[in-house]
Amino acid sequence: MSEIFNNLFSKAKDLADLTGKKAGEIIDVSKIKISIAEINSEIKKNHEEIGKLYYDMEINGNDNLALMNTLIEDINQKKEKISNLNERYEELKNVIVCPNCKTKNESESIYCTKCGEKIN
Ligand SMILES: [Zn+2]
Repeated sequence: MSEIFNNLFSKAKDLADLTGKKAGEIIDVSKIKISIAEINSEIKKNHEEIGKLYYDMEINGNDNLALMNTLIEDINQKKEKISNLNERYEELKNVIVCPNCKTKNESESIYCTKCGEKIN
């Protein structure tokens, strides 16, 4: 992981420590956001690489099509991954996990619907 991501992650951990009971949930959500950012930067690298390969093809006449297609396929897979992570993020964002029984409750809930533990 790059330094930027490490910093983001340790900040998220500090925040989670401050908020106590929500710690686990906040770390999960921030991990998802970090993963999405990492995958996006990999996609950007692929785009750059495709651009270089195309340039090389035009200028030097090298046949880079197969390689370019591999990179395009890789981008498509990464986009799919991002869309799954986004779905997961939306799920977790609206959920608070009970620290007592691990039941998922709506984030506005004050008490756990299963065990009655105060969660907010
Ligand atoms: Zn509970």
